[in-house]
Amino acid sequence: MDRTVCQSIVCSNLLLPSSRSETIADAAVAVGGGQVLAYGSRSRIMAEFASDHVEELGNCLLMPGLVNAHSHVAMTYLRGLADDLPLLTWLNEHIFPVEQNLTEEIVYMGALLGCAEMMALGTTAFCDMYLLEKGVARAVDDSGMRAVLGEVQFMFPTPAYGSVDESFDVVRELFDICRDHPRMRASVKPHSVYLTTPELLTRCFALAEEMDSLFDLHAAESKAETLQCLENLGNRPIEHLEKLGLLTPRTLLDHCVDLSEREIRLLVKTGCKISHNPESNMKLASGVAPIPALLGAGAVVGLGTDGVASNNNLNMFGEMTSAALLQKVHALDPTALPAGDVLTMATEGSAACLLWPELGHIAPGCPADMTALDLDKPNMRPLYDAPSHCVYAATGGEVCFTMVQGETIYRDGKFLTLDYPALLQEADKLSQWVRKHSA
Ligand SMILES: [Zn+2]
Repeated sequence: MDRTVCQSIVCSNLLLPSSRSETIADAAVAVGGGQVLAYGSRSRIMAEFASDHVEELGNCLLMPGLVNAHSHVAMTYLRGLADDLPLLTWLNEHIFPVEQNLTEEIVYMGALLGCAEMMALGTTAFCDMYLLEKGVARAVDDSGMRAVLGEVQFMFPTPAYGSVDESFDVVRELFDICRDHPRMRASVKPHSVYLTTPELLTRCFALAEEMDSLFDLHAAESKAETLQCLENLGNRPIEHLEKLGLLTPRTLLDHCVDLSEREIRLLVKTGCKISHNPESNMKLASGVAPIPALLGAGAVVGLGTDGVASNNNLNMFGEMTSAALLQKVHALDPTALPAGDVLTMATEGSAACLLWPELGHIAPGCPADMTALDLDKPNMRPLYDAPSHCVYAATGGEVCFTMVQGETIYRDGKFLTLDYPALLQEADKLSQWVRKHSA
């Protein structure tokens, strides 16, 4: 039988095709045209496919790349600038003064550093919202990562635009940049109920419908937000969005910490997606999102890191550990949010949040977005259950291989798409710039 010639074949001692499937020992994945063509035992794949490029991973766990459902990736330049402060002090005295002086080049370099961090930690795709997002698009394009991008829209001017009308021009430009790109999609991202107006939210949603894109905003992040919303608008944030008709299957709500039981049912009924950000919620003392109740009701929930200013990293392995442990200690129930459910959130759940359901698992016809953990690290031995290791034992430091769209972008500590020494120099310059502009 003639073998099918393909782009590459990735071989590994162990393969976990998806969070819900069994592992396959001595496995291989055939990749062509940026997609997975087939996976299975090494002997079967090698009998069916031939390639000049065979990637031998050895004793690794090959698995779907993790998907970060909520990030502000360019904010790496603010990492550790100001921690352990009340939210408004932190925002008004430390974050906003720096952000007022942002340029697209700063955003580009910050995002490039964030992309490097993510690929070294097994994340292959992310859902991003920030100022001057064109700079993030350049970083995603250059680094080989995958992202759903959005220019954040407020009811006030930003370094990206002067008026609300101009903000829509900036958003449309991002759609032009991402059009027909295999790894980038644009979306519409008003910041939140409290930093927009009902008119702005409605206009944003109309554009998302016109573009058939994701509509993404922060919502119900804390009790304080709910109280402010009740005072100013007479409704809770989710009720406000409901009244405006903005709870739909294209709607992604970030955080969703302060939800009533009725709101949980409403989010499920309307097909909204929810991004869970446990480390940011803990660090800002926002509260504990009712994830077991959401999943029990049938909600689509993904996992995200939020920006590094409130995390302080983009590590989805660490985020998975935190997600599982937080629910257990909150419910005083060790059976709450088991490892398999957490891994599903960080892969297929997040993929659903991005409206990109082909991501988050390894299957024929899906983008070849994969990562691998080195099983020869001491903390990975022995291995009885792969999802358990991903959530509880792995730290992200075991990642030795990351592939996006069939291209290997990270291998054994080397960043294959980036000039990493130059990037480190730029990161040092970024911190000098931040010091000049922070209070
Ligand atoms: Zn956020």
